[in-house]
Amino acid sequence: MSDGTAAMGRRNRKRVHVRCRRCGRNSFHVRKGYCAACGFGRSEKLRSYSWVNKKKSSV
Ligand SMILES: [Zn+2]
Repeated sequence: MSDGTAAMGRRNRKRVHVRCRRCGRNSFHVRKGYCAACGFGRSEKLRSYSWVNKKKSSV
């Protein structure tokens, strides 16, 4: 018992992310007003980073 993630009481409290209008993922942050997955609401361009794909791309 109590040997790992115990803060389960914070689950299902508030709607942090809702379905994004652009990428369709449940990643649109309601309070921040932008999507965590595609960056909708923050920039016109799609949010993308080189580290998104965990598979080796270079290096
Ligand atoms: Zn999105």
